[in-house]
Amino acid sequence: MNEITTQQLIEIVSAISAAITSARDELNSLDSALGDGDHGTALSVAFADAVEKITVLEQPTSADILRVVASSLMNRMGGASGALYGTLFLRACGTVQGKYVLTHDDLKTMWQVGLEGVMQRGKAQPGDKTMIDALQPAVNAFAEADDLHEAFRKAAAAAARGARSTAQMIAKHGRAKFAGERSLGHEDAGAGSITVMFSAMRDYWKENHDGQA
Ligand code: ADP
Ligand code: MG
Repeated sequence: MNEITTQQLIEIVSAISAAITSARDELNSLDSALGDGDHGTALSVAFADAVEKITVLEQPTSADILRVVASSLMNRMGGASGALYGTLFLRACGTVQGKYVLTHDDLKTMWQVGLEGVMQRGKAQPGDKTMIDALQPAVNAFAEADDLHEAFRKAAAAAARGARSTAQMIAKHGRAKFAGERSLGHEDAGAGSITVMFSAMRDYWKENHDGQA
């Protein structure tokens, strides 16, 4: 089993939504330390909106599903990170037009192009204490893995390591930038939510395909 059907993609987005909702308070509290404390709530509202909309699509392609997720993130999340999360999914969507099944190679390209979009739009580099510090290692893990099972497993671990490493960084973007050196010792909220997202994908894959990959 080394590919994702549209039905599975819908289930994956639902699993991400549920995981973000469970982590909502924790993500809000990470964001309270350096920002305005809304990151978990904003992301959970946007993913819930996406789930509602993708479940009523008729025979959607993978790209149709990702496009709906992107627009919910852009329209319902607001703020800098809504645009950045939206860009991640919109760029990913652009790489899989017309497809009903996604392979490991498709996911490598989706995440790589998505990451480049987020970096272009937000102008953050690795080490700037943003979602990029979790996203880039996760995307690299996808590229280096031999199959989807290994990719999901390694990407979640890489994102978590990346998110932890942000505690040692000084914020250079977004609201956290105003905290300056005070941002040391705190993990970045966006890196935290990227970790929740990749962990949810890993758990979904493990529950549904354990031992088959
Ligand atoms: P807001 O700051 O508008 O309240 P959120 O609280 O939803 O937005 O998201 C904050 C997160 O957005 C940060 O923790 C960080 O990971 C991410 N972020 C902010 N600015 C940038 C940027 N320029 N590039 C990448 N990520 C960013
Ligand atoms: Mg915020």
